[in-house]
Amino acid sequence: MRILILSDIHANLEALEACLEAAPAHDHVFNLGDIVGYGANPNEVTDKSRSLGKVFVRGNHDKACSGVSSVEDFNPVAGMAALWTREHLTEANLEFLKQLPHGPIAPAENLICVHGSPRDEDEYVLFPRDAYAILARAEAPLTFFGHTHVQGAYWIDDSNDTEGNIEPRYKSKTGKQTFTFRVAPGARCLVNPGSVGQPRDSDPRAAFASYDTEAGVVTFHRVPYDIHRAQKKILAAGLPERLAFRLEEGR
Ligand code: ZN
Repeated sequence: MRILILSDIHANLEALEACLEAAPAHDHVFNLGDIVGYGANPNEVTDKSRSLGKVFVRGNHDKACSGVSSVEDFNPVAGMAALWTREHLTEANLEFLKQLPHGPIAPAENLICVHGSPRDEDEYVLFPRDAYAILARAEAPLTFFGHTHVQGAYWIDDSNDTEGNIEPRYKSKTGKQTFTFRVAPGARCLVNPGSVGQPRDSDPRAAFASYDTEAGVVTFHRVPYDIHRAQKKILAAGLPERLAFRLEEGR
């Protein structure tokens, strides 16, 4: 089975379309949440996401933008964007986002999907010590997570008592590029496909991952997209300027 893993699209239609165009052939799409919030196309991105598949976990922005949670815990910029999104979502998309499931979910054999982490849907897994603590209790060999907007993976292998992390190394920050790694049999991995619509790992290209279950290979992808167009829409919508500028910084 070939799976496309998308996370943190954040209403960025240009980035989503570029990813789908660059994506390899796949049988299923798994969406790790934060479909909306920050970007200027919440309805177009939600419609497109709904048309791609049925596997979703909810993100903190999906909750705030649909009113499942309040925006009180958000910083002012994120809060303003969430309220703007709530006002602009169609009734149908608002309902769809409201009913998205809490992670973790197990959409395929030996595979878990979460937004933040298996122990807390809103946890940011940014440090190796947290990743290894989660992996030590992982119930499946492979866990896909998002939320941090940083592409990469952590693994532990009890068979030879080793652990490590993977930061995809690309030759440059231009053009379409991929980075693959093979999941060792017996290892447990936490894999973050990166953010489609608002990368924060200093590479402004849209990020996603694909996974071939038979080959046991995860492929990380980076794809350039029309950042300028996405920025213009954010500014025209009256969303905070910072949300436009950060896209070209990849932060
Ligand atoms: Zn996010």
